[in-house]
Amino acid sequence: MEATEKHDVVIVGGGHNALVAGTYLARAGLSVTLLERLPHVGGAAISAPVFDGLDARLSRYSYLVSLMPQALIDELGLDLELRSRDTASYTPYDDGGLLVETAPGQATEESFRTLTGSDDELEAWRRFYAEVGTVADAIAPTLLEPLPHIGELRDQVEMAIWTDLVDEPIGTALERRFAHDLVRGVVGTDALIGTFASLHDRSLVQNRCFLYHLIGNGTGEWRVPVGGMGAVTAELERVARGAGVDIRTNCEVDGIDAYDVGATVCGDGFVIEADWVLSGVAPYVLARLIGKPTPPKPSGSQFKINLLVSRLPRLRSGIDPAIAFAGTLHIGESMSELERAYAQAAAGALPERASGELYCHTLTDRSILGPELADSGAQTLTYFGLHTPYEVLPDETAAATAYEQFLTAINAHLAEPIEPLILGVEHKTPAQIEDALAMPGGHIFHGDLQWPWLEEDEKPRHPGERWGVATSHPRVLLCGSGARRGGAVSGIAGHNAAHAILDALPIMGGPGTADNVAPASRH
Ligand SMILES: Cc1cc2nc3c(=O)[nH]c(=O)nc-3n(C[C@H](O)[C@H](O)[C@H](O)COP(=O)(O)OP(=O)(O)OC[C@H]3O[C@@H](n4cnc5c(N)ncnc54)[C@H](O)[C@@H]3O)c2cc1C
Repeated sequence: MEATEKHDVVIVGGGHNALVAGTYLARAGLSVTLLERLPHVGGAAISAPVFDGLDARLSRYSYLVSLMPQALIDELGLDLELRSRDTASYTPYDDGGLLVETAPGQATEESFRTLTGSDDELEAWRRFYAEVGTVADAIAPTLLEPLPHIGELRDQVEMAIWTDLVDEPIGTALERRFAHDLVRGVVGTDALIGTFASLHDRSLVQNRCFLYHLIGNGTGEWRVPVGGMGAVTAELERVARGAGVDIRTNCEVDGIDAYDVGATVCGDGFVIEADWVLSGVAPYVLARLIGKPTPPKPSGSQFKINLLVSRLPRLRSGIDPAIAFAGTLHIGESMSELERAYAQAAAGALPERASGELYCHTLTDRSILGPELADSGAQTLTYFGLHTPYEVLPDETAAATAYEQFLTAINAHLAEPIEPLILGVEHKTPAQIEDALAMPGGHIFHGDLQWPWLEEDEKPRHPGERWGVATSHPRVLLCGSGARRGGAVSGIAGHNAAHAILDALPIMGGPGTADNVAPASRH
């Protein structure tokens, strides 16, 4: 039997959220040990040299940052550069395409006019995003606070946009506000990233996904982390170690024995007692570790491809590839195509045609390439395919078919086939992401996203519930993507779990002295 160690807090899993939580707690004077099963921390927020023999360190899984609050970056003292892109999106369509600049100007206006024949659709677009901005302005400042009640947010915005985003399936708003199938789809894709649903789904899971994609820092802008996602994790690891977090890699947790005043965490060669356990792993994984009945297993729905190309391919529309690929390049993402792909996948088949989006991060940040590649015309391309759930991509054969479908879909818009330009490729199905990252079902958010507020009748009883990080056990809190406001690379769940503990401690008599009290209310 191993000697038992004792710490104030043990964090299970070493994703970016765990690093954030550990830093706040260690800075507050608690002893914190973080246990990660892989040889490195970062979870899905890492960079890696994914192509054998090629000097390119790509953001292997997640790649863009929007939801990490600037206040959190400042508080932690992270040295990060998040770079804006001039192109928001480009969507090839027949022999033309729809260009949307990040700051929409003349090129955007002309593009809408050419596609739709008038200025009406652009006006509808501007109106919609201005209204969405009011919702973002209301919600963003609350993300690092205890959960607000729904009414506090609803009262700050016009009822029409609230209804569109929160009360009715987003597909209804898209059809009412926009006339063009392509425009509807370009807006609607934000509802479907990592979320397997129809735009008309009554569960509104797609609305929640849409909301999270539009509220980051009040602007909803997605920026490229210079140096890749690995640079974000490297900074988080630096401040965590600096604060005194004891980070242990190659340490897989096999079980958690939770009791009223703490928990024991064990794995191969270690048994650690703690007053608090933070779970940076998915709620489904936590249930298994703690010996509770597992909730339904989440199912991821994305097909991720990383490519290195010798140069960008030319497009049929004649647009400069450096403009078209600089933002989100939508492929097969008109609303009707998205709905068709969903219906086919929901019926258990791989959709006949690929729907997804492509990004070229090296147009914004060449530092992820080694000197030789950086001096050449080489570029990375990252594809995030939608509506390809775990169940329809069971094996290598299905993955190879999905990859061929991607090539067909992109080539349809190119003036030359992409294949001769490809220097390196890797693709990841949800099952492969599950294997690599222990994200159940390969679900990129550890499970479906939740509204970032309390319903009117929800009365939080202790800090864990007030911060949206509670589990059924009072001394085990969620600090990862499965927390109430956890999805994405944001650090929000880590921050909020740490604050739930810190809020509980004064009531209990300070670090390390917790007795038999469930955390009580301070707010
Ligand atoms: C393909 C893909 C693309 C994405 N794109 C984006 C994007 O561009 N922008 C964005 O904001 N978000 C994106 N996301 C989502 C985002 O990456 C996640 O929401 C985020 O990584 C969650 O962070 P986390 O710290 O909560 O958990 P994770 O990153 O999942 O980390 C959890 C850690 O726990 C470890 N672990 C699991 N079980 C155990 C155990 N038993 N013992 C010890 N350790 C364990 C895992 O190895 C892992 O390191 C993407 C995700 C994927 C997969």
